[in-house]
Amino acid sequence: MVLIMRPDFTGKQLETAIRAMEEGGVKVMVSRGAETTILGAEGDSSRLDEERLAQLEGVERVMRVSEPYKKANRKYHPDNSVIDIGGVQVGGNDLAVIAGPCSVESEEQMVGVAEAVKASGAAALRGGAYKPRTSPYAFQGKGMEGIRLLLEAKNATGLPIVTELMSPDQLPLFEDCVDVIQIGARNMQNFDLLKKVGRSKKPVLLKRGLSSTIEEWLMSAEYIMSEGNSRVILCERGIRTFETFTRNTLDLSAVLAVKNQSHLPVIVDPSHACGKAWMVERMAMAAVAAGADGLIVEVHNDPANALCDGAQSITPAQFDSLMKRLRPLAECIGRSLRA
Ligand code: PEP
Ligand code: MN
Repeated sequence: MVLIMRPDFTGKQLETAIRAMEEGGVKVMVSRGAETTILGAEGDSSRLDEERLAQLEGVERVMRVSEPYKKANRKYHPDNSVIDIGGVQVGGNDLAVIAGPCSVESEEQMVGVAEAVKASGAAALRGGAYKPRTSPYAFQGKGMEGIRLLLEAKNATGLPIVTELMSPDQLPLFEDCVDVIQIGARNMQNFDLLKKVGRSKKPVLLKRGLSSTIEEWLMSAEYIMSEGNSRVILCERGIRTFETFTRNTLDLSAVLAVKNQSHLPVIVDPSHACGKAWMVERMAMAAVAAGADGLIVEVHNDPANALCDGAQSITPAQFDSLMKRLRPLAECIGRSLRA
C-alpha cells in the first residue's frame, strides 16, 4: 500500500501517518520528493485500514498496489491447489463433474439420479436439503430428512455428497454427514458463516455472490482460509446483469481471472447461470474450454415436476450425452474426465 501526503502536510501529520501504518504491522519507507512525499508499506499490508488512513489529516490519497487477499493469492502459492473431496481430486488434471437435483425430494429421486449420474462419470452428487428460496412460501427443502436421503444415495453409489449450509447451527450435522459444504451465492458475504466453515476441516464450495466482483469473491475465500481451512473450491454460477433472457449471465472471463489471480480450483455451474435446461450442455462445454476445473450441474429424473429449479434441470439421459461430448473436448485441451 502507498500513502501520498498532501503538498502542505506538517511534520506532525507525517509522524501520525507513519505511526498509523506501523501499527498495522508494516515497515514504512518514506520517499520525499520536491513536490510529493510518499509513504510505502513494506511487508504484509492486509491489516492496514485503507479508509482510516485516507481520513488522516495531511493525507491526500491511499492506493493499494497489491491484492488484499493473501492466502488465496497465486503470488504466494504459485502451484494449483488440488482439493480432495471424499477421494475425488478437484483442481488437478481430471475435470470433476458434480451432478444431482437442485433439491433432495425423495429416496426414489435421489438414489435414481445418483446411480444414473455415476454411470455417466459424475465425480460427486449434489442435492439441497436446506434451500435458500426467494419466497418464504416456496419449498424450503427437506432438512434433516434430506441429509438422510443424501447419505442413502452415497451408500448406494459411493459418490461424495455436496450440499448447502445455510446456518451455523447445522454445521455439526454437516461435519458428520457431508463431504463438501456448499456456501450458496446468497451467503457469499455472510461473514460469520464463512468464519465458521473456516474453522471446519471439510472442503467448502464457495459460490460467487449474485452481484459480487471477483475481488469480493476472493476475499470471501480469504475469510475461510484465514481461519485455517484452505480447502476452498470456487464456483462461478452467473452474475446479475441487465439481461433478463437468461436467469443470470455466465461470466466465463471470471474463470480465467480467478485462475490467474488465485491457486484455488474453479468450477462452473451452467444451470443457475442460464436458468434454461437447453443451454446447459453448450455452456458447460464453453466452461471446460475456458479452463474450469469442473462443473456442477442440476440433473433431475422428472424436471417438469421438480420442486425447485426444474426449468434449468437436465435429465439423466441429457447428462449422459453432455458427459460424452465433454470427454473429447477435455482431451483436446490436455485434460481428462473420469470414465
Ligand atoms: C443451488 O446450488 O441450488 C443454489 C441455490 O445455487 P446458488 O447459491 O448459486 O443460487
Ligand atoms: Mn438450484
